Order: sequence, then C-alpha cells, then structure tokens
Amino acid sequence: MKISTDTVVTMHYTLRNPEGEILDSSRGSDPLAYLHGHSQIVAGLERALNDRVVGDKVDIVVSPEDGYGTHDENLDLALPISAFPPEMQKELEPGVQFVAEHPDDDEQMAMYTVLSLDGDRVLVTGNHPLADVPLHFDVEIVEIRAATEEELDHGHVHGPGGHAH
Ligand code: ZN
Repeated sequence: MKISTDTVVTMHYTLRNPEGEILDSSRGSDPLAYLHGHSQIVAGLERALNDRVVGDKVDIVVSPEDGYGTHDENLDLALPISAFPPEMQKELEPGVQFVAEHPDDDEQMAMYTVLSLDGDRVLVTGNHPLADVPLHFDVEIVEIRAATEEELDHGHVHGPGGHAH
C-alpha cells in the first residue's frame, strides 16, 4: 500500500533546524500516526510523503512557505491589557497562548503567544516559533493502512498514536 489521501500513516520522525539541533522527535517514544491528505502535518512534508511505502526513509528540507510560514510583522502586536477579559488579565505571562482574530482577516483565527508584559501593554506574537525556519525532517514510514469511515468522519486517527475517545 502506498501513502495517499485518506490513508493513516504511522511514522517515526526527527525534526532539526539548519544548525542540526533536534527540535522534535518521535524516536524513543511511540511513532506518530496521522491522517494523510488532511493538512495535519506541514504541507511540504505531507507532499513529500505521497506514494511512499512502509520502510521508506525520507530526508527532506521543507521551506518556511511549506512549513510554519514566514514571519509576518502584522502578527507582532502590543495590546492594551484592557483588551483581555478580566479573568484572563491575571493569568497573562510569557508563554501563555490564546486564539483570536487574525489582524488582516477577521474571518481567520490565529494562535498568539504572550512574549512579555510592559506596564499596561501586552506584547504578543501570532507568528509560529518556527516561522522562517527551514525544517529538516528525517522520516521513516512504519505503517500504512486505509482510514476507517469513523476516522474520516472525525478527521483524525483513532487508536495507537491517535485519539482515544
Ligand atoms: Zn474521533
């Protein structure tokens, strides 16, 4: 069986930055299972895995455009603390994440991370920590199977490496 849309792919992966530092890896724990063709992994990696078979080892570099995006200055914001609901104001500290409208498109949501607090201003960014970073993936395909109807219905994988519910 080859990897194609609506297959469930189980893989081991290691993600490195261009300096060779490991940013994330499934090695040493359970492999990752995802539903192929549903944008659950970055676009460049998903495309590179099309038609692969079990046992294939894939080394690829994904550009920021096909990865976590390029840095968007419009997503670096200084917000007045009063823009946050009172119960959230107490909990604002670096690293706190929240979802809010994209500044360029109020139909779209963006995930923001608090960077710092400066008096009554809160500095936040909607840029992904890996924006602008070319992603070096080293992947080994462990298993490929057809997704069940229930999985397609839910849009995610059930069982090992996936949702347990
Ligand atoms: Zn489900």
